[in-house]
Amino acid sequence: MSDKVLIYDCTLRDGTQGEHVSLSVHDKIRIAEKLDEFGVHYIEGGWPGSNPKDAEFFDLARTMTWRTAKIAAFGSTRHWKNPVDQDANIKALLDAGTPTVTLVGKSWDFHVHEALGIELVQNLQIIRESVAYLKSFGKEVVFDAEHFFDGYSANADYALSVLGAAAQAGADWLVLCDTNGGRLPSEISRISSVAVRRFANVGIHTHNDSELGVANSLAAVEVGAGMVQGTINGYGERVGNANLTSIIPNLELKMNRTAVGREKLRGLGSLAHFVAETANLAIANTQPYVGKSAFAHKGGIHVSAILRNTRTYEHVEPESVGNNRRVLVSDLSGKSNILYKIREFGDIDLDRLDLDAFLREVKRLEYEGYQFEGAEASLKLLVNHHIGGTHQPFTVKGFRVVVDQADGAYLSEATVKVAVDGDQEHTASDGIGPVDALDLAVKKALRRFFPELESVHLTDYKVRVLDAKQGTAAKVRVLIESTDGIESWTTVGVSTNVIEASWRAIIDALLYKLVFRKATVEA
Ligand SMILES: [Zn+2]
Repeated sequence: MSDKVLIYDCTLRDGTQGEHVSLSVHDKIRIAEKLDEFGVHYIEGGWPGSNPKDAEFFDLARTMTWRTAKIAAFGSTRHWKNPVDQDANIKALLDAGTPTVTLVGKSWDFHVHEALGIELVQNLQIIRESVAYLKSFGKEVVFDAEHFFDGYSANADYALSVLGAAAQAGADWLVLCDTNGGRLPSEISRISSVAVRRFANVGIHTHNDSELGVANSLAAVEVGAGMVQGTINGYGERVGNANLTSIIPNLELKMNRTAVGREKLRGLGSLAHFVAETANLAIANTQPYVGKSAFAHKGGIHVSAILRNTRTYEHVEPESVGNNRRVLVSDLSGKSNILYKIREFGDIDLDRLDLDAFLREVKRLEYEGYQFEGAEASLKLLVNHHIGGTHQPFTVKGFRVVVDQADGAYLSEATVKVAVDGDQEHTASDGIGPVDALDLAVKKALRRFFPELESVHLTDYKVRVLDAKQGTAAKVRVLIESTDGIESWTTVGVSTNVIEASWRAIIDALLYKLVFRKATVEA
């Protein structure tokens, strides 16, 4: 058995069946380029017979050079009424001009009767003719046996005769599909091994309806399947397809098989995030291997062990899949988290820090509603303050925000008074909302003293209402992400007043730039 497993990506076809997945032709081309770069072996571009957008994808793909991947067009076997050479769907598959064509055919007797309304032998005939016709044009043919596992359970002989018909007609791959996503790994193993014993080049295509898409794909590979079909981030119909971003690292790192190779695997995280961004979807923090929390450590005991040896609480090296280790600071943690985090900052003199006093301060702030896990810039400023680092470069003497409504239009205006070494500045600014007005006004006031603040922009603003403790007003926590075009950083502010919380986060964002990012502008 070869150690090579071919990766067949269905993101652009099955993946776009997902409820919230919508990709333009341009998006699809960009994703295909990334998949090719990452090293998948097949990219299923779409169903050219089903919509003009997919046909357009193939027109573009034909003019491009692909390094590792073969582009595949997907479609069904001919309609039972049409002669194969006059079937519009088969013609569209040929017109797509791809080296590979994937044909889906029925393998469950129940579906042949119910969905197609034809006799079992007729279905075999349709499959034979469709495969043979495409082979006569020199196409590589992948045959997807729809509902294979359900079909096998209902009528094993018939399901196998469907594979036999496709193989005899020249199909290069026979792919067993768990179309409804309802089967267990033990069933997939047992049934796949029957197919593997009889036929060469068996592949697997599973859906995740029982949350077993990954497990079922790996079960088939274990008994000899040489091709895995799936999608990036598990996008797909209903709850999705088998997730390639978990399957590929499992194959490479756990099963010692070669899919894209260990070197390319380091690009997994970036590929997963690229596809998510392009589809305008967020990757869950808890998504295995590529999620933000996949290698995040929070508990104090875990962190002190991780500091000694990363293998204590990590199943693989985060870098091997293009992710990072993160140590979270929270009230669950002991000194070791803080130590790790501060060491990560790199430019803080640890000898000068009274760690116990600092830790007490972090816990006090967390009790007030601060959370530094997502606001490392504010944490760094706090450490800096504790070791008596750079003093406050400016002081805020006061601010005022006014929101007006006139004729249905809202206007926000902020005035800010600051002082730098006794020199005062008083300015006003309009903004889209009160926070924007404040942000613009304070930067305007400081511009004369610190021109480098010109490059700082607010890129994200999040407000979370915190549970009110007994007898107190509810607090809000504001997280602000800023950038100077080179680096991004996040700061936090907490208050019962949303403007005050925002103001604190804005001031921290500007301080961070002045204290830690000054050199980058002067350089
Ligand atoms: Zn599918």
